[in-house]
Amino acid sequence: METPVSELPGVSAHRAECYARLGIVTVSDLLRHLPMRYEQEWAESTIEDLPVEALGSARGMVTKTNIRRGRTPRFEALLEDQHQDLQLVWFNASYLRDQIQPGMMIRVQGKAHAYKGRPQMVNPRWERLDEQGAAPAKDQRLRPIYPSTENLPGWQIENLIGDLLPRVTDQLIDPLSSVFVREREMPALADALRLAHQPRHEQEFAVARRRLAYNELLLLQLGIAIKRHYNHHVLAAPTLRYSTAIDQHIRARFPFELTDAQSEVVAEIAADLQRAWPMNRLLQGDVGSGKTVVALYALLMAVCERRQGALMAPTELLAEQHWLSITDMLKGSSVRIELLTAGTSAAGSAERRAQLKKIDAGEVDIVIGTQALLSESVQFNKLAVVVVDEQHRFGVLQRASFRGHGEGKTKKAHSPHYLVMTATPIPRTLSLTVFGDLDVSTIRKSPPGRAPIVTRVVGPDKANDVYDYLAQRVADGGQAYVVVPAIDESGHESRAQLKNVRAHAAALRDKLRGFKVAAIHGQLKRQTRESIMHRFRKGLIHVLVATTVIEVGVDVPGATMMIVEHAERYGLAQLHQLRGRIGRGRGGPRSVCVFIADPSKPEAQQRMDAIGSTGDGFRIAERDLEIRGMGDLFGTRQHGMPPLRVARIVEDMDLLQMARRDAEAMIDKDPGLTAPTNRTLRNILLREYGEAIALIDVG
Ligand code: ADP
Ligand code: MG
Repeated sequence: METPVSELPGVSAHRAECYARLGIVTVSDLLRHLPMRYEQEWAESTIEDLPVEALGSARGMVTKTNIRRGRTPRFEALLEDQHQDLQLVWFNASYLRDQIQPGMMIRVQGKAHAYKGRPQMVNPRWERLDEQGAAPAKDQRLRPIYPSTENLPGWQIENLIGDLLPRVTDQLIDPLSSVFVREREMPALADALRLAHQPRHEQEFAVARRRLAYNELLLLQLGIAIKRHYNHHVLAAPTLRYSTAIDQHIRARFPFELTDAQSEVVAEIAADLQRAWPMNRLLQGDVGSGKTVVALYALLMAVCERRQGALMAPTELLAEQHWLSITDMLKGSSVRIELLTAGTSAAGSAERRAQLKKIDAGEVDIVIGTQALLSESVQFNKLAVVVVDEQHRFGVLQRASFRGHGEGKTKKAHSPHYLVMTATPIPRTLSLTVFGDLDVSTIRKSPPGRAPIVTRVVGPDKANDVYDYLAQRVADGGQAYVVVPAIDESGHESRAQLKNVRAHAAALRDKLRGFKVAAIHGQLKRQTRESIMHRFRKGLIHVLVATTVIEVGVDVPGATMMIVEHAERYGLAQLHQLRGRIGRGRGGPRSVCVFIADPSKPEAQQRMDAIGSTGDGFRIAERDLEIRGMGDLFGTRQHGMPPLRVARIVEDMDLLQMARRDAEAMIDKDPGLTAPTNRTLRNILLREYGEAIALIDVG
C-alpha cells in the first residue's frame, strides 16, 4: 500500500506528477481515490421487468424487421425473450436493415414505454450478442467515473486501478478482524476496495465506501485516543485543592457576579484542576462572553496553591490589556504579576534577565505575555496552569512547549494544566476530530446589559453618509473605531488602492475638527500604542483609526460605533471579531457597526450577507464553514492530521462517533496497540500519523 505510484508499471515520471496533483502519491492514496459516480451500462432485466420510463436493458431474439417510409422514415424490429416481446423503433435509421436481421441475438438499452398497450423502446442503444447470447464480462458492471484532471483522464485512472486491484486485494491484510467488521455490518477491507471501484450496483458502493470511510476515521480516532490516554496515564499534573472558601475568596476579587454560564464552566475547570493529570480544555465563547475572568479564576486556583500560572495572548496589545485588567482586579492583593513581552523587556536586556530570574525563583505568581513565554529562556518554577487566549490565532497548539522544573516523587512526566480559549466557535465535527483530544466548555450566553449591535453593510458610494453619521455620533459624545487595511501607501502597488491608516486619519481630522482623531497600528512603539489605547479608553480620543490590531480582545466600553473599510477583504470570523470590539458598555447609545464593502466575488457577497444577518458567533462559524468548506478553516494539516480522502466528517457523523467509541475501547484495552491482533493497525497508524503521534511508543 505504501508503494509510490511512480513505481507502478506504465506510470511515467510525468504521469506520477499528474497523480501527485490529485494528492495521490502512494497505492494507498490511489485506492482511496473513489469514483465520484458511475455510469450504468446494460443493467439487464427481462422484457417483462423492464422499468417504465427509466433506463433499462434487455436481451432477446429479433423475430421481425420492417422499414416504414414517410416523413420520418423509421426502422422497426421486434425483440422476443421467453415471456414477452418488445417493439424497437429507430427513426431515420434505414441503414439498420443491413445490420439487424431476424434470428439475431441482440441486447438493447433505453427507456421503455407502453405504446398502444405494448412495450416499446425508441432509438435504443444496441449490441449484437454471440449465438449463445453471452455478453462481454466488462459490461456486467457499473463503469466508474473518477475525479480527473486535464492531463490525467479518468480512463487512465480506471485502467491503473483495474490492473492493481486484484494484486492488492490478494495480499492485503485487513487490520480489523472479520468478527469486528461483521459486527459493524461492514465488508472486509479487500472486498470494500473491490466493491468501491467495481460495484455491480450503487448499493454495493455505499457499503464499500462506509468501510473505507470508517477505516480513515478509526485511524484518526485512535491517534486521538492515544493522545488522551497518554495525557491521563502518563503525564502528571499538580492536583490543586479546592473548597468553598477558595471559591469565595477568588470570586470576591471580581468586580461583578459571575453569570450562570461562567459559573458552570468554572465548575468544570475546578473539577479538572483537582485531578492528577493535566487538564486539556478548550473554552469557547463568543466575543464579549466573558472568558477572561474564567481564565483568571483558573490562574488564581494555582496561586492559592502557591504555584504559578501563565497567560499567553497572540498579540502584545492583548497581553498588555490582560495585564492591565488583571492587575486592576487584583489590586491590593499579594499576587505578583509580570508582563513579559518583547515590548516590556527586550530579549537579553537586563530587565528581561531580572524578570526571568524572578519567574525561575518562583517570585512571580502570574506571568502574562505573548509567544515570548515559550522561549527557551523562560523557565518556570512551579507552573500549574497555562491559559492560551485566542488560540485560533496561534495556529498550532503549543501545549507541550512550556518549560518547568520536573517535580520528583513519581516517574511520570510533568505537565501543567491547559486551558485554551477561542472566540471562534468550533463546530462539533471539528471538536471530535481536529480538536478531538480536548474537552470542550462553552459559554453560550454573554453577561447581561449588552445591547445588540446594529449592523449595516453598504457600498463605497454610501461612504459619505456613513462618515456624516459618524460625525453626528461623535458630536453626541460617542467614540468610534475606523478600521482600514493598510498602514500607509508603501508596499504592493495594489495597496495604493486601499485606504490606509495615515491618510485616512488625516482626512478624518479634517472632517471632525474639534475632536481628537488618533491612529494606531502594529508598527508603533509599544509605549505609544499603550498610551493611545489608554487615552482612548479614558475618552480623550474620539475616533481611533486602526488596522486589525484591534481585532482581538480590546475592551473600550465607550466605543459604540465601528466602520470597517474594504470589509470584503476579511473573513467572516475576523469581521465578527472586529465587530465584537464595540457594544461592550452597559447602557448608553445603541452600538452601530458599518461594513463598507465592494464585494466582487459571490463568496465575498455571501460573507457580507452572513455578517449583516446575524450577530450569533456560532451561526457565523457554521456559515463560515459552509462558505469556505471544511478545507483549512482550522489548519487541519498544521495539526498533523492526514487528509481524509473517503470520509466526510459532516456527512459521516455517525461513523465518526462509532469510530470514536471503538478507538477508545481499543486503547483502553491495549494502550500501545502492542497485542498481536493489533499489529497491522499499529503499523498503519505509525506510518500515516508519523510524528503526530510519536507518543504511541510510550503507551
Ligand atoms: P471575551 O470572552 O471576549 O474575552 P471578556 O472576558 O473580555 O470577553 O469580557 C467582556 C466584557 O464583559 C468585559 O468588559 C468584562 O469585564 C465583562 N464581564 C465579564 N463577565 C461579566 C459578568 N459576569 N458580569 C458583567 N460583566 C462581565
Ligand atoms: Mg478575550
